[in-house]
Amino acid sequence: MTLSSAEIVAGENTRVAHNYHPLPVVVASAEGSWVTDVEGKRYLDLLSAYSALNFGHRHPALVSAVEEQLGRVTLTSRAFHNDQLGAFAAALTDLCGKDLMLPMNTGAEAVETGIKVARAWAYRVKGVPVDAAEIVVANGNFHGRTTTIVGFSDDDSARDGFGPFTPGFVSVPYGDADALAAAITPNTAAVLVEPIQGEAGVVIPPAGYLAAVRALCTEHNVLFIADEIQSGLGRVGETFACDREDVVPDMYLLGKALGGGILPVSAVVADRDVLGVIRPGEHGSTFGGNPLAAAVGLRVVEMLATGEFQERARALGAHLSTLLDGLVGHGVIEVRIAGLWAGVDVDPAIGTGRDIAERLLARGVLVKDTHGQTIRIAPPLIIRGTELDWAVEQLRLALEG
Ligand code: PLP
Repeated sequence: MTLSSAEIVAGENTRVAHNYHPLPVVVASAEGSWVTDVEGKRYLDLLSAYSALNFGHRHPALVSAVEEQLGRVTLTSRAFHNDQLGAFAAALTDLCGKDLMLPMNTGAEAVETGIKVARAWAYRVKGVPVDAAEIVVANGNFHGRTTTIVGFSDDDSARDGFGPFTPGFVSVPYGDADALAAAITPNTAAVLVEPIQGEAGVVIPPAGYLAAVRALCTEHNVLFIADEIQSGLGRVGETFACDREDVVPDMYLLGKALGGGILPVSAVVADRDVLGVIRPGEHGSTFGGNPLAAAVGLRVVEMLATGEFQERARALGAHLSTLLDGLVGHGVIEVRIAGLWAGVDVDPAIGTGRDIAERLLARGVLVKDTHGQTIRIAPPLIIRGTELDWAVEQLRLALEG
């Protein structure tokens, strides 16, 4: 018996906790930039699973890497070595220009790992008194959903009802280097920021901000941790969003697209003087660094090393920017765009971001709203220019009602 989309949604709603409010589309298959629902209707995917699908759905090179590895070994745990992790680590550290990586699975785990490493570095290398380490974060941040991470969010829906929270975090306005400078103390271990804030609505800091963060961190012997989980790996037309200002952080936090949209693969990447502080037994993950994840991660890094995807994001992003600019004043209040990643603020007189996402769904385009009025556009980097033309035309029509 084939169930309809409505029946599947109803069934899911009775058995799955309501921690999301999905659009009412039930995807049954996908390829490249397109997904197909259970009724056979096709949709152009402009969300890319929040940038986890930078290479599109089921990219043949990634699928074959996984299939090859499935026939050999999938999981060893780090109690033993496997023959994939070393090659993945070598390729990833070369891509980042760093010495070492620590493999995890989800983005939140990479963030938690970065926090632990920064604290251990503060005590063991910098000489911060025990349990006094501070980490400076930015208002509007989104780094994941664990209790420590939501504890330093300023989004009430992320925090309320989940305390008590981990101490040791100070939050300052995003994009304000003077506020950051004022927050740094001798006990500051790290500054943790997204080079572009994704969940906040693709908020791009003022030019020079990341360079100022770098300079302040160097001046005060503080680690600069860049959460590139959503902004990195080609999305903005460079390998990392930090590259836009030629800035090199002390630590990259990576996830999402690192697993090619197939598996959760995340990593912390840093030099030996930082990541080397972690000793055997202090940190880990049963699945972190598993050979299946490493095989797909290695292929992802090899694809990024060609520069082809970054180039596509640059060229297609310029095209998308021109298309979206044409909507400003016609139902759109503001567009913020970096590479192939845009935050589009919808005029409240027309509707909410959710309203527009639902209208686009009916027109065969998938996007997701964030923070009320914003829709985020993050197409797969393999999308065609003509598909962007069509999608933005659908957006224009959706804004008309
Ligand atoms: N950091 C950033 C910047 C993110 O955008 C996200 C997810 O959206 C995370 C961390 C958390 O990643 P995950 O959902 O894989 O835990």
